[in-house]
Amino acid sequence: MTINLEVPARFKLLVEQAHQVALGVFRPISRKYDRAEHEYPKELDMLAALVDGMNESGEQGTGARGVRRANGNGDEVRNGGHLSTVLSVMEACWGDVALVLSMPRQGLGNAAIASVADDEQLARFDHVWAAMAITEPGCGSDSAAIRTTAVRDGDEYVLNGEKIFVTAGGRCDAVVVWATLDPSRGRAAIKSFVVEKGTPGFTVERLEHKLGIRASDTATLRFDNCRIPATNLLGSPDVTEGFAGVMQTFDNTRPLVAAMALGVAKAALDETRSVLEAAGVTVDYDRPARVQSAAAAVLLAMEADWEAAYLTTLEAAWMADNGKPNSLQASMAKAKAGRVATEVTLRCVELAGGYTESSLLEKWARDAKILDIFEGTQQIQQLIVARRLLGKSSADLK
Ligand SMILES: Cc1cc2nc3c(=O)[nH]c(=O)nc-3n(C[C@H](O)[C@H](O)[C@H](O)COP(=O)(O)OP(=O)(O)OC[C@H]3O[C@@H](n4cnc5c(N)ncnc54)[C@H](O)[C@@H]3O)c2cc1C
Repeated sequence: MTINLEVPARFKLLVEQAHQVALGVFRPISRKYDRAEHEYPKELDMLAALVDGMNESGEQGTGARGVRRANGNGDEVRNGGHLSTVLSVMEACWGDVALVLSMPRQGLGNAAIASVADDEQLARFDHVWAAMAITEPGCGSDSAAIRTTAVRDGDEYVLNGEKIFVTAGGRCDAVVVWATLDPSRGRAAIKSFVVEKGTPGFTVERLEHKLGIRASDTATLRFDNCRIPATNLLGSPDVTEGFAGVMQTFDNTRPLVAAMALGVAKAALDETRSVLEAAGVTVDYDRPARVQSAAAAVLLAMEADWEAAYLTTLEAAWMADNGKPNSLQASMAKAKAGRVATEVTLRCVELAGGYTESSLLEKWARDAKILDIFEGTQQIQQLIVARRLLGKSSADLK
């Protein structure tokens, strides 16, 4: 089966709309909220209502819910919600990734719910803004080391533990919390639970001050004997069923984070190209890089690297749309796009003299770093890729 990686005609309007939002809404307020860390960007309310409206009218891939996997018969070739979400997220992040991460009801927790919730849960949590809380003070890359516990008590689970670095944790309505049903059983007992704000025992402890994505809030959360309905466990409660349920979320969210990285990198490349053009350096795409100026050759090399990351990301999303296992491709896309974004944005600062606040280039270089860290660092993605290619288990290759 061949994969056509052109933007499908029916998504072109959506991509164009995302570009207009990036240009007309995000870019003008980008610097303001980078400076005003922790202040909620109120301009996002109107936009979020618009996205809700598009979702309700059944338009595909207009937000985090676009990553729900379809139950197709597997025969037809689909360009579905994954591909359109990746394309529109990339375009929106060309405007400002921190503002995209601050969009109400478009959290990574929403993507997690869309990935693993049953239909009843999907309907119940339809209008919540959900963050995702995996990381703890003693557990980052090694998510099997989670210490937050969930103990069944009648029709409820009782949660205890602390979560750190939760994107949108301060502003969201609910959090998808990873907790273990039995710490002695390792990965298999880790499940995800939806905990709504206002539940007794659930507190937001503090917000971080950060290098980049400063418009996005990053919170520390605490759960002290926090009781939630047993029906808030996402997926199966069976502790023999393995890590697969929660890990499936990553196959859907890693291409999304790759798309964010691509959006930021593209912003930097576009800006650098126009700075170079203003300085009299025009890139000629019909001639080899070696016969052009050094600056043009660097730009060409960066664009080629970006293109590789872009195609890998589209492939991962397309495979998800077509019900194909895509863990390998999702990690490849996340690793490649995260690396490209950090390298390209920093190089663009250098090439286009974008070191001061007079240019957004310095901001993009700061914003890009997190995209190579959260949802699994560069090193962890490479580890997953190596395991998959070599046929090794997580016990064989650590
Ligand atoms: C701004 C921000 C927002 C975030 N948002 C969220 C969120 O919404 N939800 C959430 O749950 N988490 C979030 N995180 C946490 C993020 O996912 C973790 O920081 C990340 O997983 C890395 O974990 P760690 O910081 O504990 O680093 P560690 O796991 O301690 O890793 C430190 C370094 O060692 C490397 N390393 C670790 N293990 C290996 C290995 N086996 N082989 C090779 N190298 C290895 C890592 O790649 C890294 O470079 C966020 C973090 C930040 C900074």
